[in-house]
Amino acid sequence: MGKTIFEKIWDAHVVATEKGGIEVLYIDRHFIHEVTSPQAFSELEKRGLPLFRPEQTVATADHNVPTWNQHLPIPDPLSRKQVNTLEENCRKFGVTHYGLGHPHQGIVHVIGPELGITQPGMTIVCGDSHTSTHGAFGTVAFGIGTSQVAMVMASQCLLLNRPKKMRITVNGQTGPGVFPKDVILYIISKLGTGGGTGHFVEYAGDVFRNMSMEGRMTVCNMSIEMGARGGLIAPDQTTFDYIKGRKFAPSGEAFDQAVAYWKTLPSDEDAVFDTEYHFDAADIEPMITYGTNPGMGIKITGRIPQLDEVSSKENFRKSLEYMGLQPGMSLLGKKIDHVFIGSCTNSRIEDLRLVARIVKGRRKAANVQAMIVPGSRQVADQAREEGIDQVLREAGFQMREAGCSACLGMNEDKIPPGEYCVSTSNRNFEGRQGPGARTFLVSPLLAAVIALEGRIVDARTYAELADVL
Ligand code: SF4
Repeated sequence: MGKTIFEKIWDAHVVATEKGGIEVLYIDRHFIHEVTSPQAFSELEKRGLPLFRPEQTVATADHNVPTWNQHLPIPDPLSRKQVNTLEENCRKFGVTHYGLGHPHQGIVHVIGPELGITQPGMTIVCGDSHTSTHGAFGTVAFGIGTSQVAMVMASQCLLLNRPKKMRITVNGQTGPGVFPKDVILYIISKLGTGGGTGHFVEYAGDVFRNMSMEGRMTVCNMSIEMGARGGLIAPDQTTFDYIKGRKFAPSGEAFDQAVAYWKTLPSDEDAVFDTEYHFDAADIEPMITYGTNPGMGIKITGRIPQLDEVSSKENFRKSLEYMGLQPGMSLLGKKIDHVFIGSCTNSRIEDLRLVARIVKGRRKAANVQAMIVPGSRQVADQAREEGIDQVLREAGFQMREAGCSACLGMNEDKIPPGEYCVSTSNRNFEGRQGPGARTFLVSPLLAAVIALEGRIVDARTYAELADVL
C-alpha cells in the first residue's frame, strides 16, 4: 500500500517506538519566541542540561513587541522582560536570535519560510499553535506545549502518538473575490472547530495546486482552527521556485539534490486516508465570521443562522451576545471601528500588495482606524522599496513595524472593549484582540474595502475592483 506525504515524512523521522506505540520523533527545526521559551530554558538550567542542537533552533521576538518605535526600549515592563529574557537565553545557550532591530526579525511563521529555513520533508515545531503554517511547504509542522519545548531543547526529539490522516480535496475554479483565506474559512465553517481533531490534514486538488506559496501558508496556518494537529500541501514547482535563492536554502548542486528528494514526497496514488472530504471550489464565496470561533463563518452575503439551525445553542447564544449581533441578521452595512491587516495568516508581501492596489488613490473611512502590520522586517523593507507604505499612508492607514500586533492582546495594539474590528488574523475568540474586543475574520481584500467604506460590504459589487477580483 502506498504512503501519504505525512507518513513518508513522519516515518523518516521515527527514532524509536516505545511501549503502547508512542513514537520518538526527530525534529529538524525548532522555532522559539519570547512567550513559550522562558520556562523551557529554566527547565534546562534546573536540570543542568545543555541545549542539544542549538544550530537547529532559531529564535525571534514577535508576540510582545511594540509595532511603533521599535528602536526605543519597550515601554511595557512585562513585554520588555519577556523580550530581554529571550535575548539573554539565546546568548547563554548559543541560539541564533532575530531580536528587535535585526533585519530578519518578524513573526516566527513568516520569517521561517522567507529565510528558506522551512523546507519540504522536514519536521518543524514551535511552542505556538500556528506552526501549522510551515506545512505549506510539505513539512510535518505543528505547535507544542512548554514542556515539549523543553523536551526538544534537551533531546531534539518528542514523544508522540501518531495522528490520523485526513485529506481535504477542493477541485474546480473559485469565483471572483475568493482568496485563500476564504477557502480555509469556508472549510472550517463546514467541518467545525472540532472537525480535524486527532488528524493531520493534507490539502489536495486544483485550488491548492493553483495557489501561491503565500496563499498556501494562509490555508495551512488555520488548520489548527478546525482542531487538526497540522496541515500540509505536497511540494511542487511553485514550492521549489519560492525556496530557490533564499538565505538558508540549499544552493547549486545541493539544491538540485534537495529537489530530487522533495519530488518523492507527494502522497502515492494508492495511499489511504482515515478521513476524506471533497468540496467544489464553485461553492466558495468571500467569507466573514460572525461569532467567537473561526468555525462561525458565513458567506459575505449570507445571514447569521437562526437558533434552531445550530447544534450548540448555548455557545451560539453567548457568542452573539458577546458580538452584539442577532440570529438571522445580515452583516452587510454593519459599521466597523477598526481594520487590522496583519498576523501570520495575512501579513506577507502579497497581502500588502493586494491592499495597496485596492486603496491606491482612495482614503479610508473617517469612522475607521486602519492598521497594517507587516509580518517581518523583510516584508516591511520590501513594502518600502515598492512604495506600498507610501500608498497605504496616503490612504490613511497606520503602517506599523513587524510583530504579532493586534492578532492577540499581548502587546500595546489592542482593540478597545465593545468595538468592532475586521481582522485578517486567524482567531476571533472572546478577548483575543483585547478584553471585550469584537472580531470579524476576513480576507485582506474584504478588510481593505471595508476600511474604505467604514462598514461591512461585498467587494464584488464594486465595478472599479474588477481587475483585482
Ligand atoms: S500573529 Fe497571532 S497567531 Fe500568529 S504567531 Fe503571532 S499571535 Fe500567534
